[in-house]
Amino acid sequence: MRQVSMLDLHAEYELIRDKVRGVVDEVLESQRFIGGPAIERFERTMAKRAGVAHGLAVSSGTDALICALMALEIGPGDEVILPSFTFFATAGAVVRVGATPVFVDIDPQTFNLDPDKIEAALSKNTKAIIAVHLFGQCADMDAINAVAKSHGLAVVEDAAQAIDATYRGRFAGALGDMGCFSFYPTKNLGGFGEGGLILTNDERLYVLAKQLRNHGEAQRYVHERVGGNFRLDTMKAAILLVKLDLLGEFTQRRRHNAARYDELLDGAPLTTPHVAPELQHVYHQYSILCDRRDELATFVRERGVGSGVYYQIPLHRQPCFASLGYVEGSLPVSEDVASRILSLPCHPMLTEDDTEYVASCVHECFNTAPAVDRAKQKVARS
Ligand SMILES: *Cc1c(COP(=O)(O)O)cnc(C)c1O
Repeated sequence: MRQVSMLDLHAEYELIRDKVRGVVDEVLESQRFIGGPAIERFERTMAKRAGVAHGLAVSSGTDALICALMALEIGPGDEVILPSFTFFATAGAVVRVGATPVFVDIDPQTFNLDPDKIEAALSKNTKAIIAVHLFGQCADMDAINAVAKSHGLAVVEDAAQAIDATYRGRFAGALGDMGCFSFYPTKNLGGFGEGGLILTNDERLYVLAKQLRNHGEAQRYVHERVGGNFRLDTMKAAILLVKLDLLGEFTQRRRHNAARYDELLDGAPLTTPHVAPELQHVYHQYSILCDRRDELATFVRERGVGSGVYYQIPLHRQPCFASLGYVEGSLPVSEDVASRILSLPCHPMLTEDDTEYVASCVHECFNTAPAVDRAKQKVARS
């Protein structure tokens, strides 16, 4: 039986094995494992790619968020607005700096923060908004920035899933005050271990975040603040630079796979992703909504097709946030989407046969047929 998994890192590694081994060997011979030219080259390359002044390589996407919030001087007593439907780290970072997450509901079509619902969540303690570009599609940044501006709030982008995504021609991570990325191995630019990045156009925030990355050290052995160890390893930066060469092609393949699914899944009782025309989605996940989600996941699994539920429980309903007092039904769109969402394999190593097989398994589950096939049949009959 054909197997179609959610990711195929072995196949990706095949494409770059020799180059990776080459750069790893260079780092080994240099015996310089922290800082150095590979880190600086990675930071400059990433900043330039997104059209931003400064890049700062850090230890993970989570640490990018923590370091960004610390640079914005967000701490105890402060509130930070964020969507409830996101990966846990978005909210975890807020709590880690001592601030309080304030969860806001999402747009049912894009699964991103609903800008119209921000105002009602503001208080005199609100300091920032974290906009998450979920699954690789940018949140409505013009609307979010407008609310932030009128209330004097900072905007942090959680672009962990959205490297190279664009919003009205500008890049994810370049749309707010600070943009945060993750190079966790399963992300679109997956590293060989943990890794992250902050982008910013603000020189002052860049200098602060850079100090915070290294225990708040302003000059050698002079600590103006308490930061952390948020450094990225040199070897990982060198490997990320190799993987970066593949990213453009990989993103095109993800977009191609998604476009195929959009066509092939037509006719099945589910909702395919909605993409606003001014956006370039990079399909970290291809996520559908389906009333019979669990049945579908089981059905395709029995036919060798992987899938994933991102995310089962919206953050306002997580046990660790029970004390914040969000009852069931308080953020109904997040709760509804969490109960119906399913991500299908969309990674860059899929073949045409793979996407067709996945779509045919979905149709088999519902006893439906792709609309394209039905059109072909009509032509054949006439
Ligand atoms: C992966 C991810 C993070 C955290 O990144 P790590 O590198 O795993 O720490 C944060 N936010 C979102 C939306 C993510 O997908």
